[in-house]
Order: sequence, then C-alpha cells, then structure tokens
Amino acid sequence: MAQVPSLLGSIIGMKCPNCRKGKMYTNPSIFPLKKMMDMPERCTECGQKMEIEPGFYYGTGYVSYGLSIALTVFNLIWYLIFFGISFKDNSLFWFIGINVGIVLIFQPLLMRYSRVIYLNMFVKYGSHDQQEEAPVVPEPDSGTQH
Ligand SMILES: [Zn+2]
Repeated sequence: MAQVPSLLGSIIGMKCPNCRKGKMYTNPSIFPLKKMMDMPERCTECGQKMEIEPGFYYGTGYVSYGLSIALTVFNLIWYLIFFGISFKDNSLFWFIGINVGIVLIFQPLLMRYSRVIYLNMFVKYGSHDQQEEAPVVPEPDSGTQH
C-alpha cells in the first residue's frame, strides 16, 4: 500500500503538488536571491509542469498578500502576549516597525510559499496524466505501409 505524503508536509517542503516528491524550486535555499524563484520546467519525479501556462504565477500576489496578513496576525498575537500594546506609549509603533521588519525578512519565503500554495490550488495529488509527458507525435499513415 503506497503511502500518500500529507498535503501540509508537501506544502511546507515545497514539493510538487501532483506527486508530493519532486521539488518545486531548483535551489533548496533562498540564496542567491536572484535564483530564489527558479523552478524546473517540469517536476523531476512525475513530469508535472511547474508553470502550467505563461504568466500562470501572476495571481500569486494575492496569495503572498494573504500570507503577509497571516504573518502580521501571528506577530500581533505573540507581541500582545510578551509585550502588550498600549495607546499610552509608543508600543503600537514599536509593533508596527517590528512587524514590517519581520514581514520584509520573510518576504522571499512568502513569495516562494505563495507559488507552492497557488500551484496546489490548481493541481491535485495524482491528477497528472502520465501520457501528458510524452510529446504528441502525429500517427504515421498506417494505411500505406502494407
Ligand atoms: Zn511531481
């Protein structure tokens, strides 16, 4: 019985949504930043196209925006727990500054994850047709061969 890798694990590991084995990014690290978003054309494990169509990832701006908001909420929670926010001092401004800094530092990672999440929204596990891998070769005219 083949074990299906978990969706969450494959997203965190930035794996191909179709086979959850192949890596979505060429570089394991975000450094060098220039090559941070480099993706193989197809999954090395199953042949799933990483960019389904040209400009496919233009919509990821919304996803990374959503992730930035989620990170802000997360920061707000731990900041409230450890420091608290009061309108009587500068703590609100400290929080805003710290939050902007954290969101900026994590931006490369958020950009990567937004693509992973985005591709996962369109490609379900095991949905890739293996035949898609082979280039479509026109059938030779078999009628004249015999
Ligand atoms: Zn794959």
